[in-house]
Amino acid sequence: MSTIDVDLAGAVEDAAAHLYVWALKDIPQDLRDALDDARARETSVTGKRVLETIHRNVVIADAESNLVCQDTGIAVYSCRVGEQFPLHPARIYESLKAGTARATLEHPLRSNAVHTITRENTGPNIGYRLPIVHWDFVEDWDGLDVKCVPKGSGSENMSFLKMCVPADGVRGIKQFVLESIVGAGGKPCPPGIVGVGIGGSADYAMYLAKEAIARPIGTRNPDPIVAKLEEELFELLNETGIGPMGLGGDVTVLQCHIEHADTHMTLNPVAVNYQCWAARRASAHIAADGTTEFDREF
Ligand code: SF4
Repeated sequence: MSTIDVDLAGAVEDAAAHLYVWALKDIPQDLRDALDDARARETSVTGKRVLETIHRNVVIADAESNLVCQDTGIAVYSCRVGEQFPLHPARIYESLKAGTARATLEHPLRSNAVHTITRENTGPNIGYRLPIVHWDFVEDWDGLDVKCVPKGSGSENMSFLKMCVPADGVRGIKQFVLESIVGAGGKPCPPGIVGVGIGGSADYAMYLAKEAIARPIGTRNPDPIVAKLEEELFELLNETGIGPMGLGGDVTVLQCHIEHADTHMTLNPVAVNYQCWAARRASAHIAADGTTEFDREF
């Protein structure tokens, strides 16, 4: 089928409009399971009460087909574009923007987008360089995968970067992650997912931390050394006693995920990005003929 026959721009726009609302309303099963586990293992009275309230929140959102949280966040998309996908990334971006705006107006959703200096609203969750899109390109493939991760400001504000030195080693990484999460306390609406990005450069480490929060809960990094660090940090973070919503308890985080990259011999960057309990994400696969399948992962 030729590109002329297929409204691929429309298919991407439709996908974005659906993904944004779907992610906001219907949280993934792995998150539901993690929240259920948290309810089962929390022993503090206050912590249990908070987790019960979160559970009721999710049940009501399901029953009423409503949002799990009023903060519709900032729309963040990750795209994996096949080199033979017949729509240029510039057009894909325009379609993601149009879909984000359409979802916001049609649902309607709260619009959070403002000019960063004047603080004036810039449109229905769109603006200059909004939504945010991360790109990956795949050789020898003609499809497009889109993942939408709406990011609430409460958790996004709890993002931290430190340029550790190599002599700080793994100990320095652990210390910085712990200090960041203890400092954040209840602000990022715990229990959530702690995403850690290590290596690369300053900007890339933060990008990796954002990638880490978008993984299904409990998936382990394929590198066994990194996976071991994930396990250790998960245990340590839950020993802080911060607990649900920072009110004390056993469950401070649902999981700790790490993404890494090789780096310069004199660099040791560490980035932390928190994802709140409402860890929303949804994905779509768009084929070259415009056929779209919706899934949680790609
Ligand atoms: S941080 Fe998450 S749970 Fe808290 S208000 Fe924002 S979106 Fe909602």
